[in-house]
Amino acid sequence: MGSGAADPALPLPPVGFRPDAVRGSGPGQIDYRLARRSILAEYRKGRIARHEVCDAHPELARAARECGEPSSLTCPICEEVNVVLVSYVFGPRLPAFGRCITSKKELTAIAKRSGEFSCYVVEVCPSCSWNHLARTFLLSAGRGRVAAR
Ligand SMILES: [Zn+2]
Repeated sequence: MGSGAADPALPLPPVGFRPDAVRGSGPGQIDYRLARRSILAEYRKGRIARHEVCDAHPELARAARECGEPSSLTCPICEEVNVVLVSYVFGPRLPAFGRCITSKKELTAIAKRSGEFSCYVVEVCPSCSWNHLARTFLLSAGRGRVAAR
């Protein structure tokens, strides 16, 4: 053991957007599933145009192609392909724009660092560029080990 535990090689450069740019994560947005449902309802009623919901940031679209995790959820907009899940982690000593996570191993490695990291999982349609926050969670250091202070 002991190989690569300190600072794993993270292959992708930082992304060019911040978590607050992700739809569904705006200020005061508590329940993003509810937000997602209401956006889709508005879209179906014709109150929101397709280009307003299919506006994945170019970096997000690229991440979806390069490191998106396949899901079994059909895109709610084009209904042609399944959305993929893209995970970003934000926290101390990570780029301001977050780090795109490509594997569970990487996530585990970051979780072992000290400090609090938030993980944002975004669903993105690689076909029509629909995107929405799917979930967020906190990664806390010292799971199984008491954080030294
Ligand atoms: Zn789509």
